[in-house]
Amino acid sequence: QVFGYRDFTQQAKWDAAFLAVPDAKLAGQHLKTLTAEPHWASSPEDYKTAQYVAEKFKAAGLDTKIVPYSVLMNKPISIAIEAHDANGKLLMSGPSPEHVDPTKDGGDPFQDDPRVTPAFNGSSPSGDITGEVVFANFGTLADFKKLAALGVSVKDKIVLVRYGGNFRGVKVYIAQQYGAKGVLIYSDPADDGYVKGDMYPKGPYRPESGVQRGSTQFLPIYPGDPETPGIASTPDLPDSKRIPADKLQKNQPSIPANPLSYKDAAPILQALGGPQTPRDWQGGLPFTYHLGGAPGAAAVTVHMHLEQETKLRTIWDVIGTIPGTDPEQKDDWVVAGNHRDAWVYGAVDPNSGTAAMLETVHGLGDLLKQGWKPKRTIVIGSWDAEEEGLIGSTEWVEDNAEHLKHAVAYFNTDVGVAGPDFNASAVPSLKQFVREVTQGVASPQGGTVYDAWKKSQEDGHGRRGQSEFANGANNKSTEVHVGDLGSGSDFTPFIQHMGVPSTDIGSEGPYGVYHSVFDNYNWFTKFADPTFVYEQQQARVFGLEILHMADADILPYDYRPYSKEIAGYIVTAQQKAEAAKLGLDFAAATKAAARFSAAAQTAYRSQTGTPTDLAALNRALRDAESALLDPEGLPRRSWYKHVIYSPGEFTGYAAVVIPGVTEAIDEPDAARAQAQIARLAEAVNRSADMLELAK
Ligand code: GLU
Ligand code: ZN
Ligand code: ZN
Repeated sequence: QVFGYRDFTQQAKWDAAFLAVPDAKLAGQHLKTLTAEPHWASSPEDYKTAQYVAEKFKAAGLDTKIVPYSVLMNKPISIAIEAHDANGKLLMSGPSPEHVDPTKDGGDPFQDDPRVTPAFNGSSPSGDITGEVVFANFGTLADFKKLAALGVSVKDKIVLVRYGGNFRGVKVYIAQQYGAKGVLIYSDPADDGYVKGDMYPKGPYRPESGVQRGSTQFLPIYPGDPETPGIASTPDLPDSKRIPADKLQKNQPSIPANPLSYKDAAPILQALGGPQTPRDWQGGLPFTYHLGGAPGAAAVTVHMHLEQETKLRTIWDVIGTIPGTDPEQKDDWVVAGNHRDAWVYGAVDPNSGTAAMLETVHGLGDLLKQGWKPKRTIVIGSWDAEEEGLIGSTEWVEDNAEHLKHAVAYFNTDVGVAGPDFNASAVPSLKQFVREVTQGVASPQGGTVYDAWKKSQEDGHGRRGQSEFANGANNKSTEVHVGDLGSGSDFTPFIQHMGVPSTDIGSEGPYGVYHSVFDNYNWFTKFADPTFVYEQQQARVFGLEILHMADADILPYDYRPYSKEIAGYIVTAQQKAEAAKLGLDFAAATKAAARFSAAAQTAYRSQTGTPTDLAALNRALRDAESALLDPEGLPRRSWYKHVIYSPGEFTGYAAVVIPGVTEAIDEPDAARAQAQIARLAEAVNRSADMLELAK
């Protein structure tokens, strides 16, 4: 008995036929082709990868088109960064090229290509600035508060921060609010370098010259093309519909930022005077870290000269469709996707996901040839310009918003395979669905993917997507932990803007070359998946998600765990508000959550009973998720509409749960928190209304 199916016999046959197709070798070939050249979004090489993906979609029988958008993106013309000590002695002049010794451990065959993208931050403006350096640890809100408490001002300083702890755009967001004039973000060896293990090419960790490129867009404000929040930046969109550049402050930083390797950051950090840092700010470099910036402290001065070319550039999503055949369900799309653009070669991020997705499509194509006809329409997206801020997916979602109002699921993958440890995040209604799907796929480790997943969590491996402040039922259970959806990948526009129930899957491992030139085919075949069996696993799991959702008689959402999560979040928020003596009244939210819980039980009984009107039941189940959208959106960031999950304003990657309420409590702003409790209660009641209709 499989949840959502009245009779699984036929589906089991299609499952078996599908699972037989995804091929490890072929996935390896896709990966090799896709990562043969650097393919930064909007480059000619990126277009070539779009054509390759489109060809494979067509060969499998999908209706395929390449959909262009015209979006604002920066790319540097020149970058120069220099540091001097108080005596004017040159400490570093860079950035240094990413390079490993070609005579040791096989070297790296990809590092010398002239097309390698410069190491820069997406969304950084140009700038020619000079300033004293202050070290701000991870650049979290707590770190900046701590610095202020220690009497160190970052005003008009250049802030040096290390990667980790939050999304890099949030580091810049906070630094800018504290008055910094520029930001340098470096990879500390404690985060993903030699402290973790052997460096590439000997081991999988970041070599000293390795740099993490990445977007510094203010993702928690809104993702996508900076000039067109809420509308699609189609090539024919008139300029009058774009936000003029001088008004364009909202999701773009106004201070420049650039990433550094620890090779380049170490001399700066080592020369910093002032008090030593709080001990937990010490990273892995072999000297004591100091804050700099204190009056009379040995100062380090940095000169950053970034010349960016920021202009409209064309990007290309590839969209493949398999039309549904059930007259009542065919308009309810099942969407699945992965981005295709990479900072450089992107073997892990994102093309391990793309290679697997192409084998998923291969499998769906074979089913079509065998006569399979899905009930619901399946749409597969190969997104572009994710790295600049989820741009390809966001523009497509905004373009197709009307249709997506009744999409039944979005299945994301990004880093499809970085190693052997399967992991997933999902909305609570789909957490059990993901577990069930993984029970249907064999693991290269023996047993099922589910078994291996459970074991790896018992061994202490990644509990992905652990949300800040989350205290829901899921975190306490002995079941395999499925994380919450924060942000940092293409599920964001689907779940948090449109309310499409979403999941995100992939498998992880020691991975120290994120967003560097070294994330390439050589690294992948040495350290991630030499025989591509995890690629095959990924293709199968991704495919079963799509198949089961497209063909289920009754949509397999289980709202009972959702109700437990919501009730748990409210209790946690209430405890925090009481501890802070904010005097808030949670009664409306608590009552709504209780009603939602009862309605979830009723819906589950209908789903497992013998419902008479399947179409009506499915509609109600589907609309229960989008009922959790608040049309007004979150305070300060109205593009984000979901009242239960959003990326934290100050975390970016990690989810903040019941964000309107939680963030107002954290601020603290009691009046805003009380107003947000009312809006949360309304949304939860709307969702309960829907679930009560699920009969
Ligand atoms: N996944 C990318 C990153 O973490 C892009 C995230 C974003 O800019 O929204 O850098
Ligand atoms: Zn990615
Ligand atoms: Zn990335």
